[in-house]
Amino acid sequence: MNNEEFRTNAHQVVDWMADYLANQEKYPVKPDISPGDIRNQLPEHAPAEGEDFQKIFKDFNEIIIPGMTHWQHPGFFAYFPANNSEPSILAEMLTATMGAQCMLWLTSPAAEELEERVMEWLRDILGLPKEFTGVIQDSSSSATLVALLTARERKSAFEINRRGFTGNERYRVYTSTQGHSSIDKDVKIAGIGIENLVKIEVDEVFAMRSDKLEEAIVRDIADGFIPLAVVSTFGTTSSTAVDPIGEIGRLCQKYNCWHHVDASYAGSALMIPEIRVLAPEIGRCDSFVVNPHKWMFTNFDCSAYFIRDKQSLINTFSILPDYLKTAEDKIVNNYRDWGVPLGRRFRALKLWFVIRTYGVSGMQQKIRDHIRFGQWLKEEILHTPGVEMMAPVPFNLVCFRFHPEGINDETQLDRYNEEMLQKINRSGKVFLTQTKLNGRYVIRFVAGQTHTSAEDVKKGWEFIKDQFLDFRKKKH
Ligand SMILES: *Cc1c(COP(=O)(O)O)cnc(C)c1O
Repeated sequence: MNNEEFRTNAHQVVDWMADYLANQEKYPVKPDISPGDIRNQLPEHAPAEGEDFQKIFKDFNEIIIPGMTHWQHPGFFAYFPANNSEPSILAEMLTATMGAQCMLWLTSPAAEELEERVMEWLRDILGLPKEFTGVIQDSSSSATLVALLTARERKSAFEINRRGFTGNERYRVYTSTQGHSSIDKDVKIAGIGIENLVKIEVDEVFAMRSDKLEEAIVRDIADGFIPLAVVSTFGTTSSTAVDPIGEIGRLCQKYNCWHHVDASYAGSALMIPEIRVLAPEIGRCDSFVVNPHKWMFTNFDCSAYFIRDKQSLINTFSILPDYLKTAEDKIVNNYRDWGVPLGRRFRALKLWFVIRTYGVSGMQQKIRDHIRFGQWLKEEILHTPGVEMMAPVPFNLVCFRFHPEGINDETQLDRYNEEMLQKINRSGKVFLTQTKLNGRYVIRFVAGQTHTSAEDVKKGWEFIKDQFLDFRKKKH
């Protein structure tokens, strides 16, 4: 493809992009296909000779698009959102065009310096203290891994990096029973061992019980373990519960533990001052992660990791072979030393485009709207017979279940809700996912895509209610 062909094709692609963004409701939100349906349409072998772009683009439209789940669809209320937005998409186009690998200051000075500045902006927008330094990671899973490794190295005076485990480092990590599965994964990767991840009981609103946390720490110390880190959550994945961050922080100080706050999803809401009262002491933690790729209008991947003691982070990860040495090493950030990968994408650009396009007040407005949608739906459910709320709604995730009159057996209710969810999701109009709370099957509804409107939420909920009425009729 030469430059002239690129220009022509790119215009065609951009037209497609604008059409796609304008017409998403024309697609089923989730494709109604079976495993293998897409793969079977793809040739077994790579083409020996190059193919024409028009042919590739046609296949993209005819094979790939019908097999996509459309995350920005107005009927998408599943999982947590993966936001994008027009400015973010434009920045991604530019990033791809420059094709820079941003591992060192020297390999793209502007990328490094923009990342520094944008992370300072974000830190201030979220109300985190000035002592924090930010770096963009690929995912929250990686950010939490980085936190645990840094905690591990600081605790061992950087000896595990040097000699490996000797067997004396009987470390324990704590999170609640509602902590994200990435913590389990990270504890395994960090060599701490899954049996040393202690899951602390939660209270009736699914927040970690700090009294139980202290009991566990004291018991572990008596048994010869070394408390290493606590991962608290600001907005759990199942129900957006908020752990008692302040109390957990005090316990971490008392027992000399690293305190990492997983605010992957709900952390974005900290840009709203009223929300900060949910965790006024959040800025006392050692590290903090929030995903702008979830709920801050920025394309996947963009995970904002903040750390108080940046030198420990760098000491944990730094490598300096001769071929990577540069004259500026002492005065600039070389982000290859701030996480696992050497190579890095230019991720700060999209965040910069997003923050500048919306402005702080524009972003706050969107988050406020989304929270209002969640509160609206909660009220609707409270006034709808046969449907019940299953958890509080601090943000915009609504956990509910259908509970038609006459069915009171819990196992039967689980099955009923599972069937309802399948029926709703088969429609292609609305896509929802489930979780378990207190062992019960619960349906989750999250209204948090960049362009989700009050009308979308209302339409989605009306559709769900209609499906319920229809299902009830058929069952009787
Ligand atoms: C989504 C989520 C994660 C994982 O995020 P990735 O960026 O996909 O690794 C971790 N913790 C919580 C609370 C989450 O909601």
